Amino acid sequence: MPEGDSIHRAATRMRPVLLGKKIEEGLTTKAIIPVSRLIDREVTEIDTHGKYLFIRFGTFGSIRIHLGMDGRYFYRRLAPPFPPTQPVHLLALRAGKAWMCCRAPKILDWDAPLVREQEVRGLSGQDLLKEHDSNVIAQEMQRLGDLPIASALLRQNIAAGIGNVYKSEILFLERVHPETATGDLSLEKLKAMVDRAAWLLQRNVVSYTRDRRTTRFGMGPKLSVYGRGDEPCLKCGARIVRMVDREMARSTYFCPSCQKRRASV
Ligand SMILES: [Zn+2]
Repeated sequence: MPEGDSIHRAATRMRPVLLGKKIEEGLTTKAIIPVSRLIDREVTEIDTHGKYLFIRFGTFGSIRIHLGMDGRYFYRRLAPPFPPTQPVHLLALRAGKAWMCCRAPKILDWDAPLVREQEVRGLSGQDLLKEHDSNVIAQEMQRLGDLPIASALLRQNIAAGIGNVYKSEILFLERVHPETATGDLSLEKLKAMVDRAAWLLQRNVVSYTRDRRTTRFGMGPKLSVYGRGDEPCLKCGARIVRMVDREMARSTYFCPSCQKRRASV
């Protein structure tokens, strides 16, 4: 599941393939992306913000990608596997010998001129993988009042980068019940959660390998609770519970013993 750290790693992987190079061939299912006009243009920057990745072509514009739940990047030496009809969106760019391919992103768009990209940034909150002010993030979260903390942590317009896996892990590590009203949490507690999220994202950026996300650095499972429904809690042995948010179709894993409901935290 792509979260802030995986997008950051994707950009690191993409730079040697595209950055500073001229596009020689391009294919996409999205008519809005002017692939034919990208030929011979140089990729001037590959940047990320929260879960967005931008491939920039100077002042000409930029491709904006959000992988969502199912999207992924991959690379090919030969022609990209690009059947004539596909139920999902695709983008493939070749600079030199390698193709950069993106399959099934949630958002694949073209921002021209750069003003549009700035609008997107305005909608997106502080990026936890960049310089950010966790006090401000904590204050903004606290104003969400009755919204459960499990939902508040995913609000990308406040803190960009936290996804479903980190959400469950942070709540467990900070011993907070996922349904606690965000407004009932102290600023110190909220700040501690934000700082922990930023630290975990940073730690995971260092590792280049895909799917190596980890929030535990000792022996045993890589994750404390996420994906461990019905398994014993690593702290207390109680059974991990999986709770599904029907509206969002997202799971939250937590330990009912370590993360008890409290009136105020
Ligand atoms: Zn426990």
